Amino acid sequence: MAQIKLMTATVLGRRNVTPGMVRVTLGGDGLRDFRSTGVGDEYVRFFFPDPETGELVLPDVDAQGFWKWPAGKTPAHCECYTIRHVRTSDAGIEIDVDFVVHEGGRASEWAQQASPGDTIALREPNGLYEAPANADWQLFVADATGLPALGRLLEGLPAGTEARAIVEIPDTGHEQQFETKADLKLVYLHGSGNGIAPSRLEAAVRGVSVPQGRVPYVWVAAESRTVRPIRKYLRHELGWAATSYSVTGYWTDKLAEWEQRWAALDPAVKKQIDDLWRSGRDGQEIADEVEARMEQFGL
Ligand SMILES: Cc1cc2nc3c(=O)[nH]c(=O)nc-3n(C[C@H](O)[C@H](O)[C@H](O)COP(=O)(O)OP(=O)(O)OC[C@H]3O[C@@H](n4cnc5c(N)ncnc54)[C@H](O)[C@@H]3O)c2cc1C
Repeated sequence: MAQIKLMTATVLGRRNVTPGMVRVTLGGDGLRDFRSTGVGDEYVRFFFPDPETGELVLPDVDAQGFWKWPAGKTPAHCECYTIRHVRTSDAGIEIDVDFVVHEGGRASEWAQQASPGDTIALREPNGLYEAPANADWQLFVADATGLPALGRLLEGLPAGTEARAIVEIPDTGHEQQFETKADLKLVYLHGSGNGIAPSRLEAAVRGVSVPQGRVPYVWVAAESRTVRPIRKYLRHELGWAATSYSVTGYWTDKLAEWEQRWAALDPAVKKQIDDLWRSGRDGQEIADEVEARMEQFGL
């Protein structure tokens, strides 16, 4: 077991990107070891100390990379956020992180109040998007939380790529437009998903067909139970190889209810799920089985 390694970034500024998204710029000497992966959807984990004691309780990491929190302590609140921009200059490294404005979230509220000089702990970045080099038709599917990654991914696409994006947002005030060399068709769906109404993303994906002769790649980032049927559709109905898509649950709607159900779950079932994650089997097979268990128990 080893303790995870963190960096401490300093807030340099804050501004609203849209009424629903606040951008925090981070920098300072604590980011000197920050190394971008260069992957468009790279994200970091931020760690927030206990609001009452100020203590930052961190996990140990085992040889397989799994976390173990110290017994008897309240774990640090920890959330993933995308690196929207990275800038390197003589003054050091600066990153922009865009936070969705929502109620009751420690990370979101921190961002809405962040002031120059505040500090925050973060881990090194990681990317998930892995389109094959010859993928010339790409579909991007996201809710509001996926907008920062979508923006950076689109900005990095080469000319000649046909890109389609379907983004579900609360209302027109959340819309962002992005620069890209790709041939982009971006569609916003308003008033669904995002914790306000049932998502329309699965239906939208089912309505898209890949043009003949193209090499497709699909990237999905949205609420966890919203993305599940989309991954199943791609894997089991279309029969695509895992190299043709990246589907990530970014957050959990009605988290408190989810946590209550998880807490009430038979420890034997929790162990089965934990064992599945640690099994070393194919990632998509693990996802199939874990999701089936989750759905069985309303999670
Ligand atoms: C790889 C990855 C990259 C991500 N990148 C970004 C990013 O760049 N920007 C971003 O804003 N988010 C991003 N997210 C999602 C973000 O981590 C979650 O929304 C997270 O739960 C927010 O933490 P919190 O402390 O604000 O709220 P939590 O303490 O997790 O939740 C508090 C309450 O808010 C609700 N909630 C959480 N998120 C939302 C939301 N977006 N809309 C409405 N209700 C919500 C929960 O259901 C719960 O009821 C990313 C997630 C992943 C896995």
